[in-house]
Amino acid sequence: MAKRVTGPEIEKLIQLLAKVPGLGPRSARRAALHLVKKKDQLLGPLADAMAIAHEKVGTCSICGNVDTSDPCSVCTDVTRDQGVIIVVEDVSDLWALERAGAMNAAYHVLGGTLSPLDGIGPDDLNIRGLVDRVSAGGVREVIIAVNATVEGQTTAHYITDQLAGLEIKISRLAHGVPVGGELDYLDEGTLSAALRARTAI
Ligand SMILES: [Zn+2]
Repeated sequence: MAKRVTGPEIEKLIQLLAKVPGLGPRSARRAALHLVKKKDQLLGPLADAMAIAHEKVGTCSICGNVDTSDPCSVCTDVTRDQGVIIVVEDVSDLWALERAGAMNAAYHVLGGTLSPLDGIGPDDLNIRGLVDRVSAGGVREVIIAVNATVEGQTTAHYITDQLAGLEIKISRLAHGVPVGGELDYLDEGTLSAALRARTAI
């Protein structure tokens, strides 16, 4: 067994960093060592930024985005077309679509997809909030931008049914999103093309 080279505080830092997506135990060790070496330039400012984020971050009561204000920066942005709502599974999809920069619209984050096998039903997702938002008026189009998985498509059908009868256009991402593909992993060109070429349901 290897002998300890650091105290429990740094071991704890390594263990926590290893839980960050994209970092495994090896990268976490490197990151931790870099942080402690750059104690004043990096570790301190990072700790401060994390404490502030931890204190302020929350879920937007309108769209489900995460932000430090409620309503979030997207919902309060008057330069966006709030009459168009892009429905996504996760905040990471919202960020991916924003990186693509194809639409200047509002969003609605579902928080997952319908998955009866995993016991995830409509009440576990932010679908009621979407229907209420659209029912309140002022929305012309809902673009369903869920992943091209079986669960994603089941969710898209369910949402389409729930919005039936409301005077809005409902569309979905065009093909070009690979089957089984997750939006977060698509390049920006593919994403923005899929949005521009969206098809009406
Ligand atoms: Zn919001």
